[in-house]
Amino acid sequence: MNTERMPTRGATILEPSRKLPVTGAYDVIVAGGGIAGVAAAVAAARNGMSVCLLEKTCALGGLATLGNVTMWLPLCDGHGRQVIGGLPEELLKLSVADLRRDNQSARFIGIPPCWQPGGDPEERKRIRYRVDFNPASYLLALEKFVSDAGVKLLYDTRVCAVRHKSNLISHLVVENKSGRSALACRAVVDATGDADICFLAGEQTEALDTNVLTGWFYHLQENGLSINQLSNAYSPSGTQDGAVGPFFRGDDAEQVTAQILGTRDLMRKNLADIRTRHPDADIQIVSLPTIACFRMTRRLVSSFSLGEQHMHGWFDDAVGLTGDWRKPGPVYAIPWRALCGVNNRNLLVAGRCISADTTVWDVTRAIPTCALTGTVTGMASALAVQQSDGDAHLLSVSDLQCRLKGQGFLLDPGLVASLPE
Ligand SMILES: Cc1cc2nc3c(=O)[nH]c(=O)nc-3n(C[C@H](O)[C@H](O)[C@H](O)COP(=O)(O)OP(=O)(O)OC[C@H]3O[C@@H](n4cnc5c(N)ncnc54)[C@H](O)[C@@H]3O)c2cc1C
Repeated sequence: MNTERMPTRGATILEPSRKLPVTGAYDVIVAGGGIAGVAAAVAAARNGMSVCLLEKTCALGGLATLGNVTMWLPLCDGHGRQVIGGLPEELLKLSVADLRRDNQSARFIGIPPCWQPGGDPEERKRIRYRVDFNPASYLLALEKFVSDAGVKLLYDTRVCAVRHKSNLISHLVVENKSGRSALACRAVVDATGDADICFLAGEQTEALDTNVLTGWFYHLQENGLSINQLSNAYSPSGTQDGAVGPFFRGDDAEQVTAQILGTRDLMRKNLADIRTRHPDADIQIVSLPTIACFRMTRRLVSSFSLGEQHMHGWFDDAVGLTGDWRKPGPVYAIPWRALCGVNNRNLLVAGRCISADTTVWDVTRAIPTCALTGTVTGMASALAVQQSDGDAHLLSVSDLQCRLKGQGFLLDPGLVASLPE
C-alpha cells in the first residue's frame, strides 16, 4: 500500500478558494429552527422583515420535538404571577392546540384550568402555568406557524461559515443539497443552541465538560404510550459535582457521536430492565430522539453574563422576565446586553446559548426562556434593520422595550421584585 498519498491525522490540507453563488438576500436570517429560532423568525417576520430560517435537520422544534423534551416549563413565578406573555405564550398554547384530552402515561397534559381565562387566582399560587405536549403534533404545528408568518424555511441546510463587511456579518455560507452557497443578510440571529454562528464569527464563547448521557424516549405497553425520561444525573451548577459520567462538552464531532452512542446503550439497558419488570407485557420502543441531547454546549460570552446574583434585580436594558422552573419565587430580568454579539454588531443570540453563567444556565436554557429570547432577538433584529441598517449596537433599547410591551411582554420592574414573605 502506498501510504505517502494518505495525510496523517493532525496534518492540514489546502482547500482551493472558489466563487460561491449568492442564492438569497434577506433582512434577517435566523440560524437554527429550535424553539428560539422559530420565535425569532416569526417575531422578525411579524415586524415587517423578509426572513429566512435555516435548519440543519428536517424538522422544527429542535430539542423540544426531535429530542422528545416535552415539558413546556412555566410562564409564571410560582407565586401566581405570570411573568412571560406575548409570542412565547402563543407558542405554549400552540404546543397543546391539537390535544383532545390529557394522557397521563404519555404525559400529554393541557393548560391547567386555573390558568385559563377567568381561572382561580388562588389556585395559580399552587399550580404553575405549564403544559406537556406531544412532540409530533407540535412539530407539525410549528411548521404551519412559521409558514403562515411568511418566513422562508430552508431545511437540511447547515450554516458553515460567515463573511464580514467590517464589523457586520454580510453573508452566511451554507451547505445543502444544492451544494455550497451564500445568503446575504442585514441582521443575523444565532439560535443554533450551540452558538455556532458566534463561534464561526469570532465571538468569545465558552463550553463546559458537564453534559451526561440522556435521551427521552417513548415505549408502548398494553395500556398505551409511556414517556421515559432517561438521564444520568447532571449538575445544575454546570460542574460535575453529584453528576454521573461519562461527561461531554458536546462541541466536536467525536463527542457528539460518543454521547449519542452511549445514550443508545443506556436505552437498550433501560428497555431490557422494563421488560424484566413486566415479563408478561409486550413492551415496544417507538420513538427515540433524533438530535443530540445536550443540555448546554457552547454559549456566547458577551459584555454581560446573567448570574444568580441578578435574581430579583432590574436592568435599564431589561428585555424580558423569566421565572425559575425548579422552585417558586425567583424572577430574573434578562438584559439586552446578554443577547448581543460583541465583535459582530448585527449578530444577536437567542435560546440556550445566550450569555448566562453556570449559576443560571439551568434556567435560561428552559423552553420558555428560549422562546422569550428568541422573540426579543427577532423583534430587535427588525428594529435594528429599520433604525440602523442592522447594527444592533445602535438601536434604541427604549424603542425595543416599547415594542415588546406593545406585543404582550410583561416588562414590569414590579414583577421582578421578590414578594414579601
Ligand atoms: C435531556 C434534556 C431534557 C430537558 N428537559 C427540559 C424540559 O423538561 N423542559 C424545558 O423547558 N427544557 C428542557 N430542556 C432544555 C430545552 O429543551 C432546550 O434547552 C431548548 O429546547 C433549547 O432550544 P433552542 O432553540 O435554544 O435550541 P435547540 O432546541 O438545540 O435548537 C437548535 C436548532 O438549531 C439547529 N442547528 C444547530 N446548528 C446549526 C447550524 N450550524 N446550521 C443550521 N441549523 C443548526 C439544530 O438542528 C436545532 O434544530 C431539556 C434538555 C435536555 C437535553
